[in-house]
Amino acid sequence: MFYNPYMDAIGTLKLLSGQMELEHAEESRAEPAKPACFTPKEQRAAFVHPAQLPNGKQIKLLKTLLSSACERDCFYCPFRAGRDFRRATFKPQEFAELFMKLHESNAAEGIFLSSGIAAGGANTQNKILDTGEILRKKLGFRGYMHLKIMPGAERGQVERLMQLADRVSINLEAPNTERLAKLAPNKVFIEELFRPLKWVEEIRQSQPAYKGWNGRWPSTVTQFVAGGADESDLELLTTTNWLMKNVRLKRAYFSAFHPIRDTPMENKAAVDPIREHRLYQASFLLRDYGFDLEDMPFAQDGNLPLPTDPKLAWAQQNLAGKPLEINMAYRQELLRIPGIGPKGADAILRARRTGKLRDLTALRKLGIVVARVAPFVLLDGRHADTQLAMF
Ligand code: SF4
Repeated sequence: MFYNPYMDAIGTLKLLSGQMELEHAEESRAEPAKPACFTPKEQRAAFVHPAQLPNGKQIKLLKTLLSSACERDCFYCPFRAGRDFRRATFKPQEFAELFMKLHESNAAEGIFLSSGIAAGGANTQNKILDTGEILRKKLGFRGYMHLKIMPGAERGQVERLMQLADRVSINLEAPNTERLAKLAPNKVFIEELFRPLKWVEEIRQSQPAYKGWNGRWPSTVTQFVAGGADESDLELLTTTNWLMKNVRLKRAYFSAFHPIRDTPMENKAAVDPIREHRLYQASFLLRDYGFDLEDMPFAQDGNLPLPTDPKLAWAQQNLAGKPLEINMAYRQELLRIPGIGPKGADAILRARRTGKLRDLTALRKLGIVVARVAPFVLLDGRHADTQLAMF
């Protein structure tokens, strides 16, 4: 039997990619395309997640770490220092070459690259930078790259990263200093995590004419461990809202806490995944629908109700008995109606230029889910919900 270094590298990749379902990115499904098994073809598929890019394009995204060795000891993390499991590390050149083999065989089109921290955040950031530079400059990779900013990275490194990536991110994990102390007492919220997100925006603003590697600066996202620090949804959304308004955060990912064996939080109860879903819905209302934090239906404890979507809860409180006339409402008002998103609102505005919308059939032809809309609107002065029986 002869030695095959490629199969060795695939084995390393398998070790490094095993827990990546904890990282949410690019609307990738939590589970890989196929379960891990032992033929080379199927092994490759297990590392690659179907993912949707911000422009709507679907790609095969390789989500992995450069190293699963980490000197930090975040309480929730499977890679924390001292936890007993088999670790692995790629050198930048080795990883870049492996990725290009996967890319050339059409097994992976884009990459999401993070790492455990060894010998400091700046040192680890250099490894990610080296990998990105080899891929872009030596191997000519022109596809999608999402590269992580390491806690402890320097501003100059963040700028170099932005020159290589389509997206950069750093996980805040918690909404503020006090909450982070419960999750990762050795991470420094402002200096290590929050400040790099501000740097990204400062760099974008200081060089508006710079076009990045593909004609624009990369977008920025972050991730929170939802429920890990007993924080409220109000705390998470306050920080998210600030970042979206002040440093152009593209979106926040929320990963519902679930305990990992052999960590200090192994006995903490898992958070209901529906909470993650409600947080996403609320963050989209803040980002795309003109909602403010004060509009959110927070309960006394600062959490969103789990049974109801926040937009529906707002409409039940504010539009019940006061339906909006579809033919008169401003765009911002249309966006407040359950069942109408930005595309639907624009379709209604376009349709109104050619005549009145008089019934639910006209709305349905615009692609709108009329059952959700009907209780909250008038169509040419008539209650729409009386027409629902026709559908
Ligand atoms: S620094 Fe990152 S990889 Fe290391 S323990 Fe913390 S969360 Fe895990």
